[in-house]
Amino acid sequence: MSGALHCLPVPTPFAVGRVNCYLVEDDPLTLVDAGPNSGTSLTTLEHALAEHGRKVEDLERIVLTHQHIDHIGLAQILADRSGAEVCALDALAPWLATYGEHMDADDRFSEAVMHRHGIPDDVSLALRAVTQQFRGWGASVQVATPLHDGGELGFAGRTWTVHHRPGHSPSDTIFHDAASGELVGGDHLIGHISSNPLISRPLDGSEGARPKALVTYLASLRATHAMDLQVVYAGHGEPVTGHRELIDERLRMHDRRARKLAGLIAARPSTAHELAHELWGNVAVTQAYLTLSEVLGHVDLLLAEGRVREAERDEVVYFEAV
Ligand SMILES: [Zn+2]
Repeated sequence: MSGALHCLPVPTPFAVGRVNCYLVEDDPLTLVDAGPNSGTSLTTLEHALAEHGRKVEDLERIVLTHQHIDHIGLAQILADRSGAEVCALDALAPWLATYGEHMDADDRFSEAVMHRHGIPDDVSLALRAVTQQFRGWGASVQVATPLHDGGELGFAGRTWTVHHRPGHSPSDTIFHDAASGELVGGDHLIGHISSNPLISRPLDGSEGARPKALVTYLASLRATHAMDLQVVYAGHGEPVTGHRELIDERLRMHDRRARKLAGLIAARPSTAHELAHELWGNVAVTQAYLTLSEVLGHVDLLLAEGRVREAERDEVVYFEAV
Protein backbone atom coordinates (compact mmCIF):
# COMPACT_ATOMS: atom_id res chain seq x y z
CA MET A 1 0.00 0.00 0.00
CA SER A 2 1.63 3.24 -1.11
CA GLY A 3 1.33 6.32 1.08
CA ALA A 4 -0.07 9.67 0.05
CA LEU A 5 1.52 12.29 -2.11
CA HIS A 6 0.97 15.83 -0.79
CA CYS A 7 1.42 19.09 -2.69
CA LEU A 8 3.33 21.73 -0.70
CA PRO A 9 3.17 25.09 -2.55
CA VAL A 10 6.09 27.40 -1.75
CA PRO A 11 6.31 31.11 -2.70
CA THR A 12 8.85 32.35 -5.27
CA PRO A 13 9.88 35.90 -6.26
CA PHE A 14 9.15 35.08 -9.92
CA ALA A 15 6.19 35.88 -12.17
CA VAL A 16 5.20 32.21 -12.19
CA GLY A 17 4.07 32.48 -8.56
CA ARG A 18 4.27 29.52 -6.20
CA VAL A 19 6.26 26.38 -6.97
CA ASN A 20 4.86 22.99 -5.98
CA CYS A 21 7.04 20.74 -3.86
CA TYR A 22 5.65 17.25 -3.22
CA LEU A 23 5.94 15.19 -0.06
CA VAL A 24 5.78 11.45 -0.71
CA GLU A 25 4.66 9.59 2.42
CA ASP A 26 6.55 6.41 1.77
CA ASP A 27 9.82 4.77 2.76
CA PRO A 28 12.13 6.62 2.29
CA LEU A 29 10.22 9.83 3.14
CA THR A 30 10.79 11.88 0.00
CA LEU A 31 10.47 15.51 -1.03
CA VAL A 32 10.30 16.36 -4.73
CA ASP A 33 11.84 19.77 -5.45
CA ALA A 34 13.00 22.25 -2.87
CA GLY A 35 11.75 25.77 -3.60
CA PRO A 36 13.93 28.87 -4.02
CA ASN A 37 16.70 29.72 -1.58
CA SER A 38 14.89 32.22 0.65
CA GLY A 39 13.88 32.43 4.29
CA THR A 40 10.21 32.90 3.38
CA SER A 41 10.21 29.76 1.27
CA LEU A 42 11.93 27.73 3.99
CA THR A 43 9.42 28.91 6.63
CA THR A 44 6.49 28.10 4.33
CA LEU A 45 7.92 24.66 3.62
CA GLU A 46 8.42 24.00 7.34
CA HIS A 47 4.79 24.94 8.07
CA ALA A 48 3.55 22.77 5.19
CA LEU A 49 5.56 19.78 6.44
CA ALA A 50 4.22 20.36 9.97
CA GLU A 51 0.63 20.14 8.65
CA HIS A 52 1.48 16.56 7.74
CA GLY A 53 3.19 15.90 11.07
CA ARG A 54 6.67 16.15 9.56
CA LYS A 55 9.72 18.34 9.89
CA VAL A 56 12.72 19.02 7.66
CA GLU A 57 14.86 16.68 9.79
CA ASP A 58 12.55 13.75 8.91
CA LEU A 59 13.30 13.94 5.17
CA GLU A 60 15.26 10.96 3.86
CA ARG A 61 15.39 11.74 0.16
CA ILE A 62 15.18 14.86 -2.01
CA VAL A 63 14.43 14.41 -5.72
CA LEU A 64 14.98 17.28 -8.17
CA THR A 65 12.96 17.59 -11.39
CA HIS A 66 15.18 20.12 -13.20
CA GLN A 67 17.78 22.85 -12.87
CA HIS A 68 15.60 25.98 -12.51
CA ILE A 69 16.30 27.95 -9.37
CA ASP A 70 12.74 27.92 -8.03
CA HIS A 71 13.09 24.12 -7.79
CA ILE A 72 16.64 23.65 -6.45
CA GLY A 73 17.42 26.66 -4.21
CA LEU A 74 16.82 25.09 -0.79
CA ALA A 75 17.98 21.56 -1.68
CA GLN A 76 21.41 21.68 -0.02
CA ILE A 77 20.07 23.42 3.11
CA LEU A 78 17.36 20.76 3.48
CA ALA A 79 19.88 17.96 2.83
CA ASP A 80 22.32 19.37 5.40
CA ARG A 81 19.63 19.59 8.07
CA SER A 82 18.08 16.19 7.43
CA GLY A 83 20.88 14.06 6.03
CA ALA A 84 18.55 13.32 3.09
CA GLU A 85 20.05 11.78 -0.02
CA VAL A 86 19.76 14.12 -3.03
CA CYS A 87 18.76 12.53 -6.36
CA ALA A 88 18.84 14.22 -9.77
CA LEU A 89 19.45 13.36 -13.41
CA ASP A 90 23.03 12.12 -13.95
CA ALA A 91 23.84 14.76 -16.58
CA LEU A 92 22.65 17.51 -14.22
CA ALA A 93 24.79 16.51 -11.22
CA PRO A 94 27.98 18.38 -12.28
CA TRP A 95 25.94 21.51 -13.07
CA LEU A 96 24.32 21.41 -9.62
CA ALA A 97 27.66 20.84 -7.87
CA THR A 98 29.15 24.06 -9.28
CA TYR A 99 26.05 26.16 -9.75
CA GLY A 100 27.76 29.58 -9.80
CA GLU A 101 30.28 28.67 -12.50
CA HIS A 102 27.60 27.11 -14.65
CA MET A 103 25.34 30.14 -14.30
CA ASP A 104 28.27 32.31 -15.48
CA ALA A 105 28.78 30.06 -18.49
CA ASP A 106 25.01 30.02 -19.16
CA ASP A 107 24.94 33.83 -19.13
CA ARG A 108 27.84 34.06 -21.60
CA PHE A 109 26.07 31.54 -23.80
CA SER A 110 22.81 33.55 -23.78
CA GLU A 111 24.68 36.76 -24.58
CA ALA A 112 26.28 35.14 -27.62
CA VAL A 113 22.87 33.90 -28.81
CA MET A 114 21.35 37.37 -28.31
CA HIS A 115 24.17 39.06 -30.21
CA ARG A 116 23.88 36.63 -33.10
CA HIS A 117 20.14 37.17 -33.39
CA GLY A 118 20.08 40.94 -33.43
CA ILE A 119 19.53 41.99 -29.83
CA PRO A 120 21.48 45.23 -29.15
CA ASP A 121 24.35 44.82 -26.67
CA ASP A 122 22.93 47.39 -24.21
CA VAL A 123 19.76 45.31 -23.91
CA SER A 124 21.67 42.10 -23.19
CA LEU A 125 23.86 43.93 -20.64
CA ALA A 126 20.76 45.15 -18.80
CA LEU A 127 19.40 41.62 -18.85
CA ARG A 128 22.62 40.30 -17.34
CA ALA A 129 22.15 42.60 -14.34
CA VAL A 130 18.69 41.13 -13.80
CA THR A 131 19.80 37.49 -14.02
CA GLN A 132 22.65 38.17 -11.60
CA GLN A 133 20.16 39.54 -9.08
CA PHE A 134 18.13 36.35 -9.34
CA ARG A 135 21.13 34.09 -8.92
CA GLY A 136 20.99 34.09 -5.11
CA TRP A 137 17.66 32.25 -5.21
CA GLY A 138 19.52 29.20 -6.50
CA ALA A 139 22.46 27.41 -4.86
CA SER A 140 24.86 24.53 -5.42
CA VAL A 141 23.81 21.09 -4.29
CA GLN A 142 25.73 17.82 -4.13
CA VAL A 143 23.87 14.97 -5.79
CA ALA A 144 24.42 11.67 -3.91
CA THR A 145 22.43 9.49 -6.29
CA PRO A 146 22.48 10.30 -10.01
CA LEU A 147 19.36 9.12 -11.86
CA HIS A 148 19.46 7.55 -15.30
CA ASP A 149 16.93 7.88 -18.10
CA GLY A 150 14.87 4.69 -18.04
CA GLY A 151 16.05 3.77 -14.54
CA GLU A 152 13.96 3.29 -11.42
CA LEU A 153 13.52 5.03 -8.09
CA GLY A 154 12.27 2.56 -5.50
CA PHE A 155 10.11 3.08 -2.40
CA ALA A 156 8.64 0.49 -0.01
CA GLY A 157 5.17 1.04 -1.50
CA ARG A 158 5.73 2.28 -5.07
CA THR A 159 8.22 2.34 -7.91
CA TRP A 160 8.91 5.33 -10.13
CA THR A 161 10.39 5.03 -13.59
CA VAL A 162 12.69 7.92 -14.44
CA HIS A 163 12.41 9.59 -17.86
CA HIS A 164 14.53 12.43 -19.22
CA ARG A 165 12.14 14.77 -21.10
CA PRO A 166 14.18 17.87 -22.00
CA GLY A 167 12.79 20.99 -23.62
CA HIS A 168 11.51 23.33 -20.93
CA SER A 169 15.06 23.00 -19.61
CA PRO A 170 17.89 20.64 -20.67
CA SER A 171 17.43 18.57 -17.50
CA ASP A 172 13.66 18.01 -17.20
CA THR A 173 13.10 14.67 -15.49
CA ILE A 174 9.71 13.07 -14.93
CA PHE A 175 8.76 10.25 -12.58
CA HIS A 176 6.15 7.68 -13.56
CA ASP A 177 4.28 5.38 -11.20
CA ALA A 178 2.92 2.86 -13.71
CA ALA A 179 0.82 1.07 -11.06
CA SER A 180 -1.20 4.18 -10.15
CA GLY A 181 -0.88 6.15 -13.40
CA GLU A 182 0.61 9.07 -11.48
CA LEU A 183 3.28 11.22 -13.07
CA VAL A 184 5.39 13.74 -11.17
CA GLY A 185 6.27 16.02 -14.03
CA GLY A 186 8.05 19.15 -12.79
CA ASP A 187 7.59 21.91 -15.38
CA HIS A 188 7.39 19.53 -18.36
CA LEU A 189 3.60 19.93 -18.55
CA ILE A 190 1.72 22.67 -16.69
CA GLY A 191 -2.04 23.10 -16.91
CA HIS A 192 -2.53 26.87 -16.85
CA ILE A 193 0.59 28.02 -18.73
CA SER A 194 2.55 26.80 -21.71
CA SER A 195 6.05 25.84 -20.47
CA ASN A 196 8.34 28.15 -22.38
CA PRO A 197 11.31 26.29 -23.88
CA LEU A 198 14.18 28.70 -23.20
CA ILE A 199 17.28 28.24 -25.32
CA SER A 200 19.79 26.89 -22.81
CA ARG A 201 23.43 25.90 -22.90
CA PRO A 202 23.67 22.09 -23.20
CA LEU A 203 24.45 20.33 -19.90
CA ASP A 204 27.66 18.85 -21.31
CA GLY A 205 28.90 22.36 -22.08
CA SER A 206 29.15 21.71 -25.82
CA GLU A 207 28.73 24.94 -27.78
CA GLY A 208 28.33 23.82 -31.36
CA ALA A 209 25.04 24.39 -33.14
CA ARG A 210 22.32 26.40 -31.40
CA PRO A 211 20.16 24.04 -29.30
CA LYS A 212 16.67 23.62 -30.75
CA ALA A 213 14.71 23.90 -27.52
CA LEU A 214 11.18 23.84 -28.98
CA VAL A 215 11.93 20.95 -31.37
CA THR A 216 13.33 19.03 -28.39
CA TYR A 217 10.35 19.99 -26.25
CA LEU A 218 7.76 18.88 -28.81
CA ALA A 219 9.48 15.47 -29.12
CA SER A 220 9.34 15.17 -25.31
CA LEU A 221 5.66 16.12 -25.27
CA ARG A 222 4.89 13.46 -27.89
CA ALA A 223 6.65 10.83 -25.77
CA THR A 224 4.52 11.83 -22.77
CA HIS A 225 1.39 11.81 -24.95
CA ALA A 226 2.00 8.10 -25.56
CA MET A 227 1.97 7.30 -21.83
CA ASP A 228 -1.09 6.02 -19.97
CA LEU A 229 -1.62 8.49 -17.15
CA GLN A 230 -4.33 9.30 -14.61
CA VAL A 231 -2.82 12.52 -13.33
CA VAL A 232 0.25 14.72 -13.77
CA TYR A 233 1.48 16.53 -10.67
CA ALA A 234 2.94 19.73 -12.08
CA GLY A 235 5.66 22.04 -10.78
CA HIS A 236 3.20 24.95 -10.80
CA GLY A 237 -0.59 25.10 -10.51
CA GLU A 238 -3.17 22.35 -10.29
CA PRO A 239 -2.66 18.68 -11.20
CA VAL A 240 -3.33 17.91 -14.86
CA THR A 241 -5.89 15.26 -15.81
CA GLY A 242 -6.42 14.59 -19.50
CA HIS A 243 -2.77 15.01 -20.44
CA ARG A 244 -3.42 13.97 -24.07
CA GLU A 245 -5.97 16.76 -24.70
CA LEU A 246 -3.64 19.31 -23.10
CA ILE A 247 -0.65 18.15 -25.16
CA ASP A 248 -2.74 18.22 -28.36
CA GLU A 249 -3.77 21.79 -27.52
CA ARG A 250 -0.12 22.80 -26.97
CA LEU A 251 0.95 21.19 -30.27
CA ARG A 252 -1.78 23.08 -32.15
CA MET A 253 -0.79 26.37 -30.52
CA HIS A 254 2.88 25.96 -31.49
CA ASP A 255 1.84 25.11 -35.03
CA ARG A 256 -0.33 28.28 -35.26
CA ARG A 257 2.53 30.44 -34.03
CA ALA A 258 4.92 28.92 -36.56
CA ARG A 259 2.43 29.73 -39.39
CA LYS A 260 2.17 33.31 -38.19
CA LEU A 261 5.96 33.70 -38.21
CA ALA A 262 6.15 32.18 -41.67
CA GLY A 263 3.92 35.02 -42.86
CA LEU A 264 6.12 37.70 -41.30
CA ILE A 265 9.30 36.17 -42.74
CA ALA A 266 7.71 35.92 -46.19
CA ALA A 267 6.99 39.68 -46.02
CA ARG A 268 10.68 40.48 -45.49
CA PRO A 269 13.88 38.81 -44.24
CA SER A 270 14.30 39.59 -40.53
CA THR A 271 16.40 38.81 -37.47
CA ALA A 272 14.75 36.88 -34.65
CA HIS A 273 14.78 40.06 -32.56
CA GLU A 274 12.99 42.03 -35.31
CA LEU A 275 10.38 39.28 -35.50
CA ALA A 276 9.89 39.36 -31.73
CA HIS A 277 9.47 43.13 -31.95
CA GLU A 278 6.80 42.78 -34.64
CA LEU A 279 4.93 40.25 -32.54
CA TRP A 280 5.21 41.79 -29.07
CA GLY A 281 6.46 45.37 -29.40
CA ASN A 282 8.43 46.59 -26.41
CA VAL A 283 8.09 43.25 -24.58
CA ALA A 284 10.76 42.08 -27.05
CA VAL A 285 13.11 44.44 -25.17
CA THR A 286 12.02 43.99 -21.55
CA GLN A 287 11.74 40.19 -21.98
CA ALA A 288 14.39 39.98 -24.69
CA TYR A 289 15.66 36.44 -24.08
CA LEU A 290 12.26 34.90 -23.46
CA THR A 291 10.75 36.34 -26.65
CA LEU A 292 13.91 35.52 -28.64
CA SER A 293 13.69 31.88 -27.47
CA GLU A 294 10.03 31.81 -28.46
CA VAL A 295 10.72 33.13 -31.98
CA LEU A 296 13.74 30.90 -32.56
CA GLY A 297 11.77 27.87 -31.38
CA HIS A 298 9.11 28.43 -34.01
CA VAL A 299 11.61 29.39 -36.70
CA ASP A 300 13.33 26.05 -36.02
CA LEU A 301 10.08 24.28 -36.93
CA LEU A 302 9.97 26.21 -40.23
CA LEU A 303 13.66 25.48 -40.88
CA ALA A 304 12.98 21.77 -40.37
CA GLU A 305 10.10 21.99 -42.88
CA GLY A 306 12.39 23.70 -45.38
CA ARG A 307 10.16 26.81 -45.53
CA VAL A 308 12.76 29.20 -44.14
CA ARG A 309 16.52 29.49 -44.38
CA GLU A 310 19.25 31.35 -42.49
CA ALA A 311 21.44 34.01 -44.09
CA GLU A 312 24.28 35.64 -42.17
CA ARG A 313 25.31 39.31 -42.50
CA ASP A 314 28.01 40.80 -40.22
CA GLU A 315 27.71 37.90 -37.73
CA VAL A 316 23.95 38.45 -37.43
CA VAL A 317 21.44 35.84 -38.62
CA TYR A 318 18.51 36.81 -40.87
CA PHE A 319 15.68 34.46 -41.69
CA GLU A 320 14.22 34.50 -45.18
CA ALA A 321 11.52 32.54 -46.97
CA VAL A 322 12.62 29.72 -49.26
ZN1 LIG B 1 11.31 25.37 -14.75
